[in-house]
Formats: sequence, structure tokens, C-alpha cells
Amino acid sequence: MLSDLANTEKKITTWPGVQIAPSQSGINEETVRCYRRATFTLNYARGFPASGVDCPLHTARDSMIMKICGELALVGAIASVFIVAAQGRAEERAAEEAAGREYILKLDEKVGQAKNKRALANWAYESNMTAYNEEQMMIVSLEVAEEEKENWKETMSYLWHEFEDEDLKRMFQKYTILGTSALPEDLNQRLIQAISNMQSTYAKATICDYKDRNKCDLHVEPETDRWRSLSEITNIFATSQDPEELKYAWLEWHRVAGAASKGNFTEYVQLNNEAAKLNGYDNAAEWWLSEYEASDSEVQFATLWSQVKPLYLQIHAYVRRHLRLKYGDEVVPARGPIPAHLLGNIWAQTWGNVEYFTRPHKDKPEVDVTAALIAQNYTALKMFQAAEDFFKSLNLSGMPDLFWERSIIERPDDGREMVCHASAWDFFDGEDFRIKQCTTITNAFFITTHHEMGHIQYYLQYKDQPQIYRSGANPGFHEAVGDVIALSVSTPKHLKKMGLLQEGPEDAESNINQLYKMGLDKIVFLPFAYVLDLFRYGVFRGTTTPESYNCHFWMLREALQGVQPPAPRSEYDFDPAAKYHVSADVEYMRHFALANSSKVLVMVAKSPIAIPGVRQFQFHRALCELAGEYTPGSDDLASCDIYNNAAAGSALGSMLSLGSSKPWPDAMEVLTGQRIMDASAVLDYFRPLYDWLIEENARTGEYIGWEASEVVLPLVFNSETRSDAEPQPGPSKRLTTE
Ligand SMILES: [Zn+2]
Repeated sequence: MLSDLANTEKKITTWPGVQIAPSQSGINEETVRCYRRATFTLNYARGFPASGVDCPLHTARDSMIMKICGELALVGAIASVFIVAAQGRAEERAAEEAAGREYILKLDEKVGQAKNKRALANWAYESNMTAYNEEQMMIVSLEVAEEEKENWKETMSYLWHEFEDEDLKRMFQKYTILGTSALPEDLNQRLIQAISNMQSTYAKATICDYKDRNKCDLHVEPETDRWRSLSEITNIFATSQDPEELKYAWLEWHRVAGAASKGNFTEYVQLNNEAAKLNGYDNAAEWWLSEYEASDSEVQFATLWSQVKPLYLQIHAYVRRHLRLKYGDEVVPARGPIPAHLLGNIWAQTWGNVEYFTRPHKDKPEVDVTAALIAQNYTALKMFQAAEDFFKSLNLSGMPDLFWERSIIERPDDGREMVCHASAWDFFDGEDFRIKQCTTITNAFFITTHHEMGHIQYYLQYKDQPQIYRSGANPGFHEAVGDVIALSVSTPKHLKKMGLLQEGPEDAESNINQLYKMGLDKIVFLPFAYVLDLFRYGVFRGTTTPESYNCHFWMLREALQGVQPPAPRSEYDFDPAAKYHVSADVEYMRHFALANSSKVLVMVAKSPIAIPGVRQFQFHRALCELAGEYTPGSDDLASCDIYNNAAAGSALGSMLSLGSSKPWPDAMEVLTGQRIMDASAVLDYFRPLYDWLIEENARTGEYIGWEASEVVLPLVFNSETRSDAEPQPGPSKRLTTE
């Protein structure tokens, strides 16, 4: 339904004989400009009385004077037309802007209600997965989507580009991005179907057990087995040390979860690009990148990678040596990329599972407070209270009463089925914030609880912003906040303050062990995350075509990650889709699906384990300097704990309270004084490990970097070849790597 204001606005965009349907997206601005030109021409043609030129006709000396007078009169006439038109226009514009402001505030309130409704329905389903709750969730979801599209049409009818108020323009700009619903209905349905097909292929893909080929229900995702923390395939990669079993599981998973999705992926790319155009972007890559609000964001990503790369190369070389010692030169080439199936994770995205046999100082114990938590009778509630205490110690907000009433912090024992994946929820009414987490009393959950509460803290800090700004400053910020808190909480220093660690391990060797363990997750993850979206940017831009999807994917993986597939690949394979986020259309430069408000209305931050980014270290360093816990140039960054420091808390709070009301560099500057992403804090943090690895790799004479893979890379797809034919071996493609 249109408001009165919108009707006024509609009149402005209507010209006799030309009906400008607001639904014709993308035409309005240009059409309206045309309308303005027409208005001006019409006013000019009607003529205005000339004034201000006193022409002495009766003392005419010659025609020259007459001519001058005539010209002056004309100039005066034109000038007055401009002045009158400009005055009229200025008033008109001020009125338009006032109308726009009133409209957007009403819209924002309406959107808040819709977000609340959707969040409640989603929560109801995820916390109790009955058929009824699922149906209700779908109904609400469709209703809200419909409402969004109506809102969008109306928003698009405003001339917001010409408003003076930058903040108002920012709100309009955010509300004019609709997402894929901008597509005509039939195309949108096809897009939804293509993604749904990929997701379904992924969700239903199973492989047979290596040792028991009759057991064929092995899956990779914990989500399909909601009661257990590890799926079967994840578990194989975490524990098996049989390279043949790992190779088999790797190949089988990529066969069932990847190849079948290539057709759907190709259609998805095409339709997603169409949707991007309707939202005002050249293609989906530009659309994704637009969320980073920097014209040079890709350059910034590349710079970050180049900063971190020297550290990655040292970890890579060190791990490759240990894998070679374990599996032999035949399996792990001394100077080649590392076989991707031997790194403890089917995507080789984090390598923490190889830590126990590659640990630098094997005689030093791990920092793990699980036993202490159990001995001290910790419950889920006590863990949550400890996390709340951390935020309060920073002089930040405690959890509101509703949080304690409505959160689910333990798995209910009434037999219901629910999504146990830890998540933090904003219900967009300024009062209701919840965590849903099936806590067990472990070291990992102790950290996770702090992380999830970091999301709630962010929600609380920006709860008074307009709805459209109630999100992280950019997609990476929300995770960085939870993780930055986790960096302090996991230090031995903090665990001692909590009475969870009695003595040590704060010696240099334990510190190296701890940094190494973190590096296998956090540093190793960076090139993987980078590759996944670099690949898709190329695909969306058309520089990577369906004939070379797999080839480009492996070229990137080899060049950046230094890994290779366990066996030759071809274009009959489609390995990117064997990763959930590719099959499910989830951008990956951040690690969860927080899109703009219209694409994903419900803001749910999900974090199974801390998957990292660069920014958390940048935040951590700034907070530690403020807290007086870190002196630039020292090795103290990894042991810094900001607990109990109000100055650090206040700086953090200032950044969080902005939400997304300002471009992210502004938000980051509030805390760090820096306006660009910078990985130097990562290097500061890991410096002791970096120095140790350089020495260790030099001592063992390990080759740093990798030569071209000997594994046959994808053959170029030939449509004339039978699609079910076995790929033929071809000449090994050599890649240049650094
Ligand atoms: Zn998270």
C-alpha cells in the first residue's frame, strides 16, 4: 500500500502520456531526469516577463543600441527564468527531501517489524524442527519477501540521489538493493531452483565407507547429523592416517557433491548476474564487492595476502616436511604442492587436525581447560555468566533479562529436534536478543560462548540505530568482534585470572606451540577463503568460463594455497561445488551469510569454530595498545588480555555502536586509527612463531614455496566427448608458482 507521501512522489514521476511504473526498476532516475528537462523546456517556452532592463527607446541613437538592449533584455529574460526556476526547484527539492525522510523512517519501522516476525518464525523452527514450524517459517518468509518487493518498488520511485542529507541518501541507497527478488518472477524462480538443486545435491551426497563398501551413508556436514559434533567424513579426515583411505574419501566426495552441480552452477551464475544488473551492478562480483564499500577492496585483499604470505610459506614448508616424514616422498613431494587430502580437512581449509603429530615442542602440554571446567562444576549457565562478566569488565553492556529468559544454552532433553549449531540472534525490536547453543562443558565451548556473546554485544551496541544500520560495519566485522574477545579469553594469562589454569604454560616453547596451533587454523585459512571468492569473481565476470571452471579453480588453489588434488582432475569434475558455500550461494570473504538487510532479513551470526580474518588482529592490537598490554615491536601481542580494561571497552563500544551507519573505514578508524585493512597486526601477533619457523626450516633445509604440480590438471572440456566418459590423461600442465 502506498502512503500519501509516496502518492505525491508518484505524481512527480508522472508525465502526461508517460506512465513511469515504479516497478520498472532501474529506469526511474534517468526517466526523471528526462522529465526535468521537459519541465524546464516547457516553462521556458511559456515565457516570463522581462524585467530589470531599463531600455531608453526614445533616445535611440542607432540600431546598435537597440541591438544591445535587445540582447540585454534577452539575457535578463533568460536569467530570470533560471532564477525563478532555480528557486522553484530548490523549494521542490527541499519538499521532496522532507517527504523522503518521512517515508524512509516509516519504512524503517515497518522493516523492523517484518524482520522481527521473520526472526521469530525462524527461531521457532530452528529450536523445534516440526513440520508445522517449518511451514509457518516458509509462510512468513514468503510474506516478508513480498512485502520487501513492494517496499522496494516504492523506494525506487524517490529521487534520493539528489538529496542533500548524506545520511538519508545512505539509507535510501541501502534500501534500493533488493537482492535477487528484483528478477522477474520466472527468472527468480529459476535462480532459486538452481541454488536449491545445488544445495540438495550437496545435502544428499553420501559416499561409501572405505572399509565397508556396503555402508553408504557417509556425509560431510555436521548439520545433517544434528546430534553429533562431527560427521563421518569430517571424522575420517580428522583421524585417519591412511593416505589411501583419505584419497578415496576425497575423490568420492568430490565426485558426488561436485560434478553433479556444474549445470546448475552455470545457470546460477547467469541469473545471479542478471539480478546484479537489476540492482545496479555490472555483475555479481561487483555486487558482492560493493558490501566492502571501497573501490579498491580487491587491491586491499591482494595486499593483505601479500603481507601474510611469507608466514604462510613457512607454515606450509614446515607442515609439508612433517607430512613427508609421515607418508614418504612418494606421497608428499619434497618441493611440490601438498596433496590436499592429507591436511586433516577435506577442503584443506584449516589444518588443525595435523597439529598433534606436527607440534613444534611435543613435550609441552596443550592449553586446555576442559578438565578444570568440569572439576570446578561449570555449567552452561556458569560459562555464559563468565562471558557476560568479561563484557561487563570492559564496561560494556550486560545481557538483558529477556536474553536469560529466552536463550537456549543447553540442548533440551524433551526429544525435540533442533539446530544445535551455535548462533546469536537479533530480533530487531531493541529488547530481544538470544543465543542458541547446545553447550557442553569443554574448552572449545568456553571460547565459543564468549564469541557468540560478542555478536550479542554488537547487537546491543547498535540497537538504537535505524533498522537498516543494525548490522556490522561490513560483512567481516561481526565475526571479528567475537574473535577479538576470544583472543584475550584464550590466553593463559586470562585463564589464570579465571582460576582455570594453575601454572604455566607461559614459557617460550609453550607459546610457540600455541601460536602454531592457531596458525594452522587462522593463517592457513586465509588463502583458502581468498581463493574461493577469487574463483567466483572470475566466474561472475566471465573471465572464467564453464569450459575452464575446474582448471581455473585448481590453478588458483595451487598458486595461492600450494595444494594439489590427490589425482588428476578434468572439466567433468566440478570441485568448487564440493564446498558448501559454493553450492549454497554464500559469499566467503566473510564467513557467514550476512547479506544486506533485504537479501537476508534475519541476522543470525553462526560460528561453529572461530574461522578467522585479518581484522580481528588489527582490532586486537589496537585494543591491547589502549589497554597498555602491548608495546609496538614487542612479542607481547599474543599474550595480551584486555579483561577489566574500560578504556579498551569504551573504544570497542564506540565502534560497535555505529553499526553500518557509516562506511566501514570510518568505523575501523574509531578503534584503530586506520582506514584500510592491514595484516601487519597478524604478523605482530605471530612474530615469535614466524621467527621460529624460519630458523627451523633453515635448520632442516626445507624448500620454501613449491614447484609446479606433477598431477595432471583439468583437461579442457570437450562437449563432443561423451559426458560420462572417463577423463583421458593429457599432458601435465605446468604452472608457474612463486
Ligand atoms: Zn560468529
